[in-house]
Amino acid sequence: MLDLLIRGGRVVTAAGVGEWDIGVQGEKIVAVAGPGTISAEGGRTIDATGKIVAPGGIEAHAHIGFGGVAAARNPISRNNAGPAEQSLAALWGGTTTVVDFAGMPEDSDLLPAMHNHLSGWKDKAYTDYTAHAILRGTATPNAIGQIKDLIAAGFPSIKVFTTSLLPPTPDRPSMKMDMGRLEAIMTETAKHGGVVAVHSEDDEIVQYNYARALEQGRMDWWNMHLVHSNLSEDLSFRRVIRVAEKTGAATYFVHTSAKEGVNAIAEARSKGLPVYGETLNTYCSFNVDNYKEYDGMKYHTYPSVKFEDDRRRLWDGLIRGDLSFMATDSIVTSYADKVAGRTILDVTGGNIGIEVRMGITYKEGVVDQGMSLERYAAITSTNVAKVLGFYPRKGVIAVGSDADITVIDPSIKKKLEMRDLHISDYSSWTGREVAGWPTTVILRGKVMIDHRTLVGKPTDGKLIPRKVPSEVLKGPWR
Ligand SMILES: [Zn+2]
Repeated sequence: MLDLLIRGGRVVTAAGVGEWDIGVQGEKIVAVAGPGTISAEGGRTIDATGKIVAPGGIEAHAHIGFGGVAAARNPISRNNAGPAEQSLAALWGGTTTVVDFAGMPEDSDLLPAMHNHLSGWKDKAYTDYTAHAILRGTATPNAIGQIKDLIAAGFPSIKVFTTSLLPPTPDRPSMKMDMGRLEAIMTETAKHGGVVAVHSEDDEIVQYNYARALEQGRMDWWNMHLVHSNLSEDLSFRRVIRVAEKTGAATYFVHTSAKEGVNAIAEARSKGLPVYGETLNTYCSFNVDNYKEYDGMKYHTYPSVKFEDDRRRLWDGLIRGDLSFMATDSIVTSYADKVAGRTILDVTGGNIGIEVRMGITYKEGVVDQGMSLERYAAITSTNVAKVLGFYPRKGVIAVGSDADITVIDPSIKKKLEMRDLHISDYSSWTGREVAGWPTTVILRGKVMIDHRTLVGKPTDGKLIPRKVPSEVLKGPWR
């Protein structure tokens, strides 16, 4: 007996796009079959005629705020919305799983710190969730030796920074990882089957560019791309790839922003290295001209928005397969908080795009550029599931997988307004035309958003353990 039948839609599966009916029992997909061949047998039927039925979105890069000590230490996360608000926005936008970040202690046990962080999600999750473990530049050999415990417990993605991101003054904890620790972390992560997520920028270039901008008085936020420059991404990606090659570590570049970054990833993949690239919707929708708007700091997240030819190369990389997925670098603050910083020293990072990610990627990728629906599902869900270890439980509409499903209505055509959204009090995308938007969202068989009505609860999401498939670790799994 089925609990749910989704019939009549254009379904995006691993075997292609077609008209199939989907049968759901409990939390799982139990049938994907030709139209009219399975009956609901007393369960509920959702008519998806004229709609696109895609795997529920997976957000690979979200910073979830919990307030308290963490927020006080980190200016970027001050006033950042917590899991209830961010997962609800994600859900409304068709995303059913969110990957957060958990800061690790420099020299005490890592796994308790991860669980402590994730306890903040309990009963506040409208989506499923997990987190990457962030190791700081001060991580000790003892801490690095505990990476295996994280991986064994279902947390196989370790995040590092190769830059301190901000200038050394005012005094704050540095994120920058030296190459020695990077080698040790990559060695350890590769040995135990994990993936190293790298915020990759050349710290020497970034710090010199800050110093030069200070000296020349070019302090306005719209100079950020000249500080966090194309050359910085070029050099740093290539250096990190060399360490990855020597250690055998699967490597995931977060927020690729420049054509040089895409090219470095493409070259590594052409050599058969397990290298994967993420980009962000703010980098794909906007460029340095947008920075010059009176409130153009709202587009900023680190490293920076780049030039138009970079933006085009990011899309090209997503469509052709050099880049693996589209994330957001989610931080959700009020408009007042986001535009409070006006210089390269105090502008706020993070991007408000978690709710619009699936809808805007559909419009700007599929509708405007003819990206296939298969590729759309890959960059918004399937590839994230593979690289971060949810696959095949998540990221795919197939028998045996979690019934995480997003129904997109391609007939919704309008200018995006705040009243369409459920997040904070601003969006960088209001005023943009959309053509197609998620209307019904299902999490592990439970209808959470039902024809644009919320029926899900913050107790519905749960922590999902992960294991990275060997295909991801061995070479570029497209
Ligand atoms: Zn980030």
